[in-house]
Formats: sequence, structure tokens, C-alpha cells
Amino acid sequence: MKKAFTISALALALAACSQTSNNNTQASATNTLAPLDKLAVSPNDQRGYRTLKLENNIEVILVSDPTTEKSAAALNVGVGLLQDPMTQQGMAHYLEHLLFLGTDKYPETNQYKEFLTENGGVSNASTWLTYTNYMFKVNNDAYDEALDRFSDFFKSPKLYPEYTEKEINAVNAEWSMRREMDFFGQFKLSRDMMGEHPANRFLIGNLETLGDKENSNLHKETVEFYNKYYSANIMKVALISNASLDEMEKLAKKHFSPIKDKGIEKPQVKQEINFAELGGKKIYYKPNQDLKQLKLDFTIKNNQDQFKFKPNAFVSYLLGSEMPGTPAQQLKALGWISSLNAGGTPNHYGNYGEMSITLNLTDLGMQNRDEIVAIIMQYIDLVKEKGVDEKYYKEIKTSLDNEFRFLQKVDEFSYAAQLVNSMQDYPLNYSINAPYYFGQFNAKAVDDVLSQLTPDTLRIWYTSKNEKVDQKQHFYAGEYRIEDIAESEIATWKKPTQVALTLPKVNRLLPENFDLKTAGMKQSTAELKVEKDGVKVWHYPSQLFAEQPKGILKIDLNAGEANADIETQVSLALWSDLYNLQQSLLQAEASVAGISTRATTSNGMSLLLNGFTDKQNLLLSEMLSDLIPEVTETNFAQAKDRLIRGINNAQKQFTVRQLFPALQNLTEANNFEDDALIAAAQKLDVATFKARLEKLVKANQPRVFAFGNYNQGDLENVAEVISKTLGSNHTQTSFAKTKTIAPLPQQVLSYQKDTAAADNGLLDIHVHRKAGFKQKAIANVLAKHFSHEAFNQLRTEEQLAYAVGAFYYPVDDYASIGLYIQSPVMDLVQAQKRFDDFKVEYKAKLDALTPEQFAAIKQGVLVGLTQAPKNMYEEVSPIFSDWYKENWNYDSKQQMITEVQNVKLSDIKQFYNETLANPKASRINVQLRGANYQDKPFAEIKGQTKITDIAELSGKVSYQL
Ligand SMILES: [Zn+2]
Repeated sequence: MKKAFTISALALALAACSQTSNNNTQASATNTLAPLDKLAVSPNDQRGYRTLKLENNIEVILVSDPTTEKSAAALNVGVGLLQDPMTQQGMAHYLEHLLFLGTDKYPETNQYKEFLTENGGVSNASTWLTYTNYMFKVNNDAYDEALDRFSDFFKSPKLYPEYTEKEINAVNAEWSMRREMDFFGQFKLSRDMMGEHPANRFLIGNLETLGDKENSNLHKETVEFYNKYYSANIMKVALISNASLDEMEKLAKKHFSPIKDKGIEKPQVKQEINFAELGGKKIYYKPNQDLKQLKLDFTIKNNQDQFKFKPNAFVSYLLGSEMPGTPAQQLKALGWISSLNAGGTPNHYGNYGEMSITLNLTDLGMQNRDEIVAIIMQYIDLVKEKGVDEKYYKEIKTSLDNEFRFLQKVDEFSYAAQLVNSMQDYPLNYSINAPYYFGQFNAKAVDDVLSQLTPDTLRIWYTSKNEKVDQKQHFYAGEYRIEDIAESEIATWKKPTQVALTLPKVNRLLPENFDLKTAGMKQSTAELKVEKDGVKVWHYPSQLFAEQPKGILKIDLNAGEANADIETQVSLALWSDLYNLQQSLLQAEASVAGISTRATTSNGMSLLLNGFTDKQNLLLSEMLSDLIPEVTETNFAQAKDRLIRGINNAQKQFTVRQLFPALQNLTEANNFEDDALIAAAQKLDVATFKARLEKLVKANQPRVFAFGNYNQGDLENVAEVISKTLGSNHTQTSFAKTKTIAPLPQQVLSYQKDTAAADNGLLDIHVHRKAGFKQKAIANVLAKHFSHEAFNQLRTEEQLAYAVGAFYYPVDDYASIGLYIQSPVMDLVQAQKRFDDFKVEYKAKLDALTPEQFAAIKQGVLVGLTQAPKNMYEEVSPIFSDWYKENWNYDSKQQMITEVQNVKLSDIKQFYNETLANPKASRINVQLRGANYQDKPFAEIKGQTKITDIAELSGKVSYQL
């Protein structure tokens, strides 16, 4: 959802930390609302809740959900990077790694992960500035035992000194993988500028910062850090399970009460920032990716204790508005920017936070950066003067209330992690509703934030490939130069600009009617409900969430065979960019009203509406009335520039993130290499582009899938609006879906390509010769065990890479299984050799698998497949892919479940022999050679068909029907 001010999962993960500020001047605005006396829960949430404080002062939230198939737990310790010793930067993160390796009761390093694998579980952990968070989920019947293992990490971890080297290498590999990410580089530089403030530390750590130094022994300090900070009274626990609240309370006490309460004071940073040093700066930053960005970044005091008054949300709502007269709208109209986003994070640096406005610029915008800064600063003055108005409070409050009222479940794993983060940040009873609760309009709280948005707290980031720089970052790839903002420059911000700024007008799309339209509708599968002038509308009423007045509407104008053509593909990409840009006012207004909208391309033009159904009809007719965006030479050139930079930037992503898209491109028909797409984009002119769009609107097959709260009238209306948009001279084309490769025996497709990222990437899959759910089910079960063994051997034992593992991959109707790695240390020949050897070594592990272990793994897969969907999105996903594949029985999920039930131990052994251990199996191999390895060869595979251009595949492979 774009431009919404509620806290997204990511923002929550990033924001989650820290204590309330110690600053007394801020406390005056609080306490005018009576505190909650019990945990606030969404009226839509039927689960049982209980809060506890154990004898050792751990706060706990219990969530009892009789429908859940998996139980989850999270534990958050209120300590993080801000407490790292200067001599061992990255230690909080390093400890997070070391902690998992065995305890007094369960001393083996691999026992925990093994137990989870055998019981359908997963685990993870993360470290941020003010917290370290640990979580897992597992089958319900293994919960008690899993909790016993999990909680032991916080009672008696082994912290084996002999694993020091191995884990430093793991941390170093993690850093090396993120080294070129501009987000991490810029965040580090922004903290480096904070002088003595502890936020200046290096979050991830590497071989240089972690390690023994004179007077500083890593292991000794890690043990001291654990002993000092891992105290029950700064821990928060969340448990979710199908057990009753009474049973869960017993579990909580049994496992978490023995954790030692050291009675420590919650670590808090009190150090003041010297704004004379930090503020009033311009940073010229040369990024790794080809960005054209401007960011106004204000450092503000942590005001998390005022969450009931949402001052940051209020301010960023006004700053980021897309309504007529606001900077976002005006700058887009000038063709200077493609996006403007405003946001506030109160604890970005612990006791300080950030309020920022980030703009993506066009080349025209790049030439007018100073003017843009002046416009934003003048708009901030306007907000200070006239914007603190109760009408915006009402609008934001309505939107947040609606969202909270119909809040949907997320999976247990994320929910547990989310709850404990929130418990560190807010009083216990607000742990769920804090992001949505807007108790009162409080002008003073808003004014407090606005008063801090001045040149003294401001840092302006000019980010592009062309910046003049004079310094290199030490731990990251970015280069930069810092300058003061001159007084004379500040004076120019007062001068008149070429735009007339106004504050946003009120929203028209807020839902008023929450009528439920599908109650009593007897229909248990998707059905074709309307067929009018060639527009077909299918409808599937939610079986599980009929109490939600929401729906998902997907409109596809399927382009049929035209889609095979590169010019069509480029035109569609440019269309969705320009369309979304020109619709941004409408999209932002809809988003505030709880409806997300987006144009995408899936074998043609495609529109998606998702959220409250009340105003969707109005919205859709407005969206369709401008289906072909206005195109000029200027905005067309700008869209091409974004497209080309986007393609080039994708090549700079972590290699591991490029591997899977490359695999998909290779297995699906009608794909092209990046250079071919770029050349086609460069060649395209406005006239051809317009003609192409008109043709796409004129000839296509319109198909609509409606899921959720719609009645027959709504569906007919949708068909009507679409048919009117397409007009009377519309031609129906035949429906085309993406074709996928069919495996040929002995065929080894090896895609070999250089990439701009530093590390090598290798991915290698073996495809089974028979299609169908039986083989897919077997592969699914086998992959669970295979990937566990691969991770254990290649990552934990050998530390070959941070990103290494195994996976199951459906090549449409065929099953495959394989390995992937992003390696900073091995060349491709070495990596391929290690994979080939591991495939042989694994045989012995598979032979050693006992029937009991096999049964547990299979059960884990089954539980994952049969568990009830948590929300509307999970409910519709399998139905939706059946719809796209034209499987009118909508039974793929059920077929998979039935086949998994039938899988035997001998089946997975046979499957293994027919794929990974079979030299004649069909294989797909992807080799991306990193920039650091240009002088090393690619791996040659016996009998390979080498591919360097995907477009040349067509004659060499056959496709599934
Ligand atoms: Zn890590």
C-alpha cells in the first residue's frame, strides 16, 4: 500500500526498538488520555488473549487460536547495536549467531535446527539498534519440546569458544553480501556523522571489527555482554498456539520463569546529539545503483511516548500528500519527480528519530534540485502556519480505525515477532493497537515535531552517479562529500518559487458502507458470473472471511500472442510506469481509504484493486477513464530512463537475488536479455508507443476475477465499465498464458552470464521426467530433508557462503529439486564441484533417514499445506493460480495434499535416484559470474547446452502445453 501512514511490516521491523525518550519537555503532552486497563484487540480478532508478568519480570502475551496448525514463539531482548562495545562492533549481532549453537541441556550445535526440521518448523533471528529478536514456529504437538530447547538459549547457552572463527566468518559473509547495498551504506554514513553518539557503530560486523585485539578478546567480551544484558526483566515473550490460555500460561511459566532476572536497568542511550556538528549539511552521495534521488532528512527527538497523538503520522500525511497543490502533485506535473514519500521513525537512532522526505527525480528534476528543496521548505512553513487542523486528524483517524476494525491475521511466525517488537516500544496493553490508535487531536504534539523541522536539524542528500565526491566509505561501497548548507542558500529558500502551494483537500473515497454482500451466498468455488460484450467476470465469495467488507478485483486485458513480441513487452512496462505515475493522486487517495490500486503487466495490461469494496466502483471507472496515459516527448523519455536504470540496477542486486529471476526467465517462453530490452526501449518512439497502446486496448481478451464482498450488481457493473472503455470496435483475441519449458532427458541447459554484482552465483536444478502432482508431492517432502542437510553442511559446517541452500522448484507441471549459492570466496568451477560432490555425499544421509524421521518430515509438509488460511490473500492464492491456469476444478491444492499423504520413504529415495543422482536427468543450471571473478572460467557441465542469450532458447527446447 503506497502512501499509507499505518505501519507496514517493514516499517515495524525497522522501527521496532528503543525506549521512550528521557526528555522531560516532551512528557507534558502525554497522560491526557486514560491508559488502557487491558490489551486492546481488533473486534475482528476472535482469538483468546492474555497478558502476564512472570516472577522474573518477563512480560508475556499469550494468543490462543484453536484453528492454528502451527505454534510460534518470539523472545525479544532489549539490547542491540547501541550497546556494542567500541572495540567489538557488531557484537550484538555476532552473539545472535553464536547463541543458537547448543545449550547445557541440548549441547549439540545442530540439535535445535534438526528438531525444528523434523517437526515442520522454522526459526530466525534479527538484530537492530535497540533489540535482538529470536523466533520460531513448529507443529502444535512439538510445541512444548520446542519451547524447552528455545528457552534454554536464554538460560544456559554454551557459547562455544571453538565456534568463534566459524561464526565470525558467517557474520563476515553476511556483511560482504550487503556491502554494495546503498540502503546500508547511507544508513551507516548518516550514523557516522553523529560524532560520539553510539548509533555510530557498525551494525553487522566483519573480520575487521570482530576479532581479538590488544586488550579486547572477542569471546571474553561476548560472554560478558551476554551475562550483562541477557536479563529476564528486559525480555518480552509472545506465544501463539492452539492450546487453551490456561495451558499456555503453564507453558510460559515452565519455560520462561527460570530465565535469570539480573534486575538490570533497561539499556537507554541518553547521549545528546550536537546539532551544530550534525545539522545544516549537504551530503553528495555516489551510490552503487544508478539512482537519482533527493532526500530531506530531519533528525528529531524520540517521541514514541506520544504514540496516542500520532504526531509523526500527522506530519508525514501532510508532507507526503498527493492532493492538488501539494509538492508531490506539483513536482510531478512539472515532470521533475516520479515519486515523493514522507515518513517518520521516532527511534531511528535510539533516543533520536528521523522525519524525512524522499524524492526520485527525473533529469529535469536533477537540474532543479535547489528549487525543489526550496519548494519543500516553503511547504513545511505552510504546514506549520495552517496545516495543524483537526480535519486531517479526523481523516487519518477514520482510516486507521477502519483498518484496525477489520484487521486480518498474519502467519504466526511474523505475528509473534511483531508482538514482541511492539512490546519493547509501547506499554503492554497497546502492543497490538499502537500503530492504529489515534486517541486525540493534539496540536501541541504536532507542533513539537514541526518546530524541529528546521535547517539546523536538516541533512540534504543528493544521490546520483554524477556527484562530485572526495571520500570513500570504509565498510560500504559508497563514496561521498559533505558540505555545510550556507546561510545564503537558506535565504534563497524564502524566495518565490514557480509553484503555488496549497494544503490537501479532504478525501472522497473513505468507505461509509460496510454491508456484507456474500452472506448466505451458496457458492463454494469460483464461478463465471457475468459474460457481457466479451468481458468475462468470475466471482469467488470468501468462505472464511465473509465478515470482511473487502475484496480483490483483478482485471486482465490479456494481449494474447502479441505478448511474445519484445516491443509489446517494453511498451507494457512503460505503460504501467506512466499510468501509475499519472494515477498517483487517485492511488494515494484510495490508499488512505483502505484500497490499494496498481497497474501491472501480466501478459497484457492488468489492474488490481484490493481493500474495502464500498467505493471500488467509483474508483474503477476513474481508473479506466484514463487507461492510456498522456504521453509527451519529455515524460516518455523520463519513463524510458527509469526503465533502463531499473534493468541496470537489477544487475547490481545481490547475486542470489538475480539467480531466481534468471531461472524463471530461462524456464518461461518469450523472454529477452537485458541488453535487448534496453535496445528495444531506446528505439521506441512516442508515435509507435501510442499506436502500440491503442492496439493493445483495441485487441485483447478481458477477464476479471473478483474475490470477496461483491454482489451480482457489482460484477455486472464492472463488466459494463470495462466494455464501455474498450468500445464497440474491440476485437477479442485468444487467451494466452505464459508457456513453460518441458524437460527433455539428458538436456542440460546451462545459462552463463556476467553480472555487475561482486559475488558469484550458481543455481543447479534436476527436473523429474514425469509431470504431475505425485512427483511434485514427493519432491516437496524430499526437499525438506535435502535443504536441511545442505544448509547444515555447506553453511554451518563449511561456511561457504551466507546465502547457500537447497530448494524445491516446480517447473510448471514438473517437479525439480536443486541447490543455490552466492559465494564471495569460490569461483564457479569450485562451486559446481562442491555441489556435484554434495549430491553424492547426500546419498548416505538419505539412506540413514529413519522411518520415524521421515514420517515427521512428511507430517510437517502436510501441516503446512492443510493449515487454514490466515487472511483473504492466503485463501484466494491457490484459487487464483488455478483460475489463471484455467483449471476450472480449482483443486490443485487438494491434489497436492492427497499426493503428499501417499508419499513413502521409498518414493523419495527413488525420486532422488531419478534426479539429483541421475546423470541423465534433465538439468537447468544458472551461472552468474561476479565482477570480482571476470578472469575465472565458467563451470563446464558434460553435455551442456550453453545459453548466453535467452532469446535463442526457442529452437532448442520444447514447451509444456
Ligand atoms: Zn546475521
